[in-house]
Amino acid sequence: MSDCLFCQIVQKHIPAKIVYEDDRTVAFDDINPQAPVHTLIIPKQHVAAVQDVNDQDSSLIAHLLMTCTKVAKLKGLAQSGYRIVTNTGRDAGQTVFHLHLHVLGGRHLSWPPG
Ligand code: 5GP
Ligand code: ZN
Repeated sequence: MSDCLFCQIVQKHIPAKIVYEDDRTVAFDDINPQAPVHTLIIPKQHVAAVQDVNDQDSSLIAHLLMTCTKVAKLKGLAQSGYRIVTNTGRDAGQTVFHLHLHVLGGRHLSWPPG
């Protein structure tokens, strides 16, 4: 979708600090980091949110999760730990409607989240 911010990042029309890319995903640092490491992992194909993944591309979710673990390793978080978050809809505070997983780490993360 041409008017989608993250589709534009996939197409390199908007710059981002890309930390990993393969045929199905792109990972880039969040513009407003909430932790020393805050990277977003997105599918290249436009999917609005996790609930919009259908049966045909359910393997995409597994691939996105595997990409999170790769990024965590690249960012040096494999030993210290990290959190993977996806906000869905209004109550969760989703602001960009192109599916993305947040990988947060590099500090202690409190629980439960606010
Ligand atoms: P959400 O609130 O939808 O779960 O997360 C959207 C995330 O995208 C936020 O953490 C926000 O800081 C990040 N973000 C919004 N616009 C941009 C941008 O243009 N570039 C990058 N790198 N991150 C962005
Ligand atoms: Zn999109």
